[in-house]
Amino acid sequence: MTILDGKALSEELVDSVKDKAEKLSPTLAVILVGENPASMAYVRNKKKACERAGIEYIQHDFEATITQEDLLKKIDDINQDPNVNGLIVQLPLPDHIYVPDVIRSVDPSKDVDGFHAYNIGKMFLSPEFEDLPPATPLGIVKLLDHYDIPIRGKEVVVVGHSNIVGKPISMMMLNRDATVTTCHIHTKDLSAHTKRADILIVAVGKINLITADMVKDGVVVVDVGMNRNDDGKLCGDVDFENVSKKASYITPVPGGVGPMTVAALILNTVRATERQKASQ
Ligand code: NAP
Repeated sequence: MTILDGKALSEELVDSVKDKAEKLSPTLAVILVGENPASMAYVRNKKKACERAGIEYIQHDFEATITQEDLLKKIDDINQDPNVNGLIVQLPLPDHIYVPDVIRSVDPSKDVDGFHAYNIGKMFLSPEFEDLPPATPLGIVKLLDHYDIPIRGKEVVVVGHSNIVGKPISMMMLNRDATVTTCHIHTKDLSAHTKRADILIVAVGKINLITADMVKDGVVVVDVGMNRNDDGKLCGDVDFENVSKKASYITPVPGGVGPMTVAALILNTVRATERQKASQ
């Protein structure tokens, strides 16, 4: 069994864009609303990765009470600012803010999270049109590619159908000629599907949802889940201790998909900057 080391690969990928970043001088703006501790930790990691890559990082902090109107105005200002190449609005947002309005208001050419309908829609065409794909799915694809794990013709089972992970990773696997099954809360017999998986990608947010009896020998497991157990320890959706005994490859949590998401954001920021400068 091989551990898919997202931490090491993410550092390699971030380092690999340093030369381009030096030439392009990209700037990433991050909007953080409120003081959600997980969000604060995520943006700290993004800042660190930007510093490592040589990308300028600007953070805009707002009180949780900011109105939607004021937030959209700030996003519009950043959209108009020619010195900013990438924009992330850290999710989740307070309940009084309607997230689809926020996602739609980000300029698609600066949408390095890859959440805008324009960027999601382009992904449906073919891998060549995955210009700014959602960061977590892009990170997963980079991880599988790095370890030379074949995707074409494989049974890929995705558990979770969120707009930011489950649906786009399903599409990216289909773009790479896998046979894809996407499961969710209404799936009748989850383990009947997971047992068939050559590659199992789990993005739900439930500790130990996937147990060893639900996978076949040799499966490749990508655990996207980020949960805290009763002791406050970070863990995924997969029972790592027992599933890893049957897996050929498996991501750890932490140190798997999390750092790859940050690396993908860096890749998207450089990509967005290149495309903007090329069209000037
Ligand atoms: P989400 O929007 O809450 O989506 C969860 C998905 O799981 C939904 O499709 C939900 O279906 C489905 N689901 C819920 N219970 C299920 C069950 N018992 N069996 C099968 N499917 C079930 O979450 P998300 O944003 O995709 O995130 C999922 C997890 O990944 C979370 O733990 C999150 O923290 C983590 N995450 C990690 C990273 C990273 O960089 N590592 C990035 C993003 C997310 P319904 O919608 O029908 O209820």
